[in-house]
Amino acid sequence: MEKFDVLVRGNGCVGRSLALALGARGFRVALLGKSATAGAPAEIGMAGTASLAGMTNGPAAAATPGRSVQPGSDVRAYALNAQSVRLLTRLRVWDTLPEDARTPVHDMRVMGDRAGASLHFSAWDQGVGELAHIVDAAALEDQLDAALRFAPHVQRVSAPVPATLEALCEGRESVTAQMQHGVHFERHDYGHLGVAARVVASQPHHGVALQWFRSPDILGLLPFDRPEAGRSYGFVWSLPRERAQSLLAAGKSEFEAALMEATGGQVGALTLASERQAWPLQLARADRLCGPGWVLLGDAAHLVHPLAGQGLNLGLADVEALVDVIVAREAWRTLDDEKLLRRYARARLTPTWAMGELTDSLLRGFASQAPVIARLRNEGLRLVDRAGPIKKWLTARALGH
Ligand SMILES: Cc1cc2nc3c(=O)[nH]c(=O)nc-3n(C[C@H](O)[C@H](O)[C@H](O)COP(=O)(O)OP(=O)(O)OC[C@H]3O[C@@H](n4cnc5c(N)ncnc54)[C@H](O)[C@@H]3O)c2cc1C
Repeated sequence: MEKFDVLVRGNGCVGRSLALALGARGFRVALLGKSATAGAPAEIGMAGTASLAGMTNGPAAAATPGRSVQPGSDVRAYALNAQSVRLLTRLRVWDTLPEDARTPVHDMRVMGDRAGASLHFSAWDQGVGELAHIVDAAALEDQLDAALRFAPHVQRVSAPVPATLEALCEGRESVTAQMQHGVHFERHDYGHLGVAARVVASQPHHGVALQWFRSPDILGLLPFDRPEAGRSYGFVWSLPRERAQSLLAAGKSEFEAALMEATGGQVGALTLASERQAWPLQLARADRLCGPGWVLLGDAAHLVHPLAGQGLNLGLADVEALVDVIVAREAWRTLDDEKLLRRYARARLTPTWAMGELTDSLLRGFASQAPVIARLRNEGLRLVDRAGPIKKWLTARALGH
């Protein structure tokens, strides 16, 4: 049987991007997993939804207005930073995304609790064109698939094939890492579900993203142009499990009323425009990122809470780092050389650890109901908002510069 250079296990956004990036460098790549366009909904990058089977969509899921999102497709809208956009552009995926599937974010407002403290980030202050782009998850997977159809060195396979290097991009449910390589995961379950859907607002979004730290729940509204240009949002609502389950089971109008209460009417009335889907939220880290002949990338290596919208950005940065390390290797080093793969692991250890810590600290800081903590965090928000350099530094990290 033909021996490939790399077997990529897992065809989520990270696996597909890695296969494309390595194929473009002339490596012979086998990609294990089904095509999104041909696959069942559970294959469409819905990390963790399988374990929520039967409860991801409430009874009101079908009650969506005219130009709604395809039933069964991933309803998430990803916030992607400049580094991810650069990679996707090089992979010839970015420019082929439909215009309404990638919406620029110009401003972001982060609100604390009712004491009124808030943080404002703007592309203008940062001297950049946009803070991020909000991208339709299903459209991104489709475009990655389309690019793969023209990738000369990538072959889709339906069972593992011999390869010098195995890149495990199996997402949060990765079994190969544990079963075949004895990788252990440090996991912390937040006890929250991340509920996602699309909504259409009665007011235009003007490219402004909003986030409410409501203690204990966190709601993020991401400006989007699907299903309606200029007035749609993708949202992620991190809610304690029981509350999430009751909102998933609630009728459409009850759910919309809860959203209205959470946003305080700041963006006008919100109408549900898709199914509701949910993911269990965890912080997880693998104890090793590589070994002889294998390497971990994406959610298979690290899981972070989606409040900062960084999970896929981290995974795409993994792809870039691994390809750089492989391309720059000494001529005599083979792809399975553990010393080579450790260079990748070293490059990714600090950024992924830091992002996990940052999101975790924010969550813990905002989870507390104690009045003294609430006062401190409101003061903290005000301070950061006034401290130009700190804000600039925070924004630059999130932007991927
Ligand atoms: C609600 C929510 C909102 C989010 N918002 C953002 C955001 O705004 N910005 C951002 O950057 N990130 C965001 N994320 C994180 C982002 O979704 C993930 O980081 C990203 O999808 C991970 O991609 P992946 O390819 O590593 O894993 P996955 O998407 O899980 O793909 C893994 C694939 O591998 C397949 N697979 C599993 N086991 C095997 C096997 N043994 N063999 C072959 N194939 C296998 C699976 O079927 C799947 O298709 C969000 C996450 C959630 C839950």
